[in-house]
Amino acid sequence: MSMYEIDSSYVRRCQKRLQEWGAPLSGWHCDYIYDVTDEEEDSDNIELFTCELCNCAQVRFVHVMQHDEYFEPVAVGCICAGIMEGDVLAARERERLMKNRAKRKRNFPHRQWRKNWHGNYQLTYQGRKVFINNKDGNHYSVYVDGRTVWSYKGKPLDNFVSAAYAAFELADPIERIRP
Ligand SMILES: [Zn+2]
Repeated sequence: MSMYEIDSSYVRRCQKRLQEWGAPLSGWHCDYIYDVTDEEEDSDNIELFTCELCNCAQVRFVHVMQHDEYFEPVAVGCICAGIMEGDVLAARERERLMKNRAKRKRNFPHRQWRKNWHGNYQLTYQGRKVFINNKDGNHYSVYVDGRTVWSYKGKPLDNFVSAAYAAFELADPIERIRP
């Protein structure tokens, strides 16, 4: 276990909590990870997540941990995830990849999009062709790798930025960040 750098009393506290729950102390794996700020366009209004294990209320990237011998997932921050899976470095690496992806996403609408004579936008991103089609000013659709979408987070694409985010989700899917 690569537990160096982590305060041992913190580790003990987390393990005690797991014990109180009757949960396994080790052998957890990360099912998925998400960014709580991804849902928020308005950065003044971001509510961070509270780690279910240590109660730290400053969690931006939530690691959802699962164990075959426990009845429910446990959603935690990076260090607690590392303690549960017995590998803090792996949890940190996952978080680093998420941060980088968040930066790529934020930057995606501002990349060098080529506009063709139809008024559509095109870009090659990580070797894939990404298309944003603008039908009549405020109806957009996105085409990447044979898939077309017309919405982002359940809302129709009525502006370029949300179309670009929808395109990003297809071109750079979060599923690639796997434990
Ligand atoms: Zn925690």
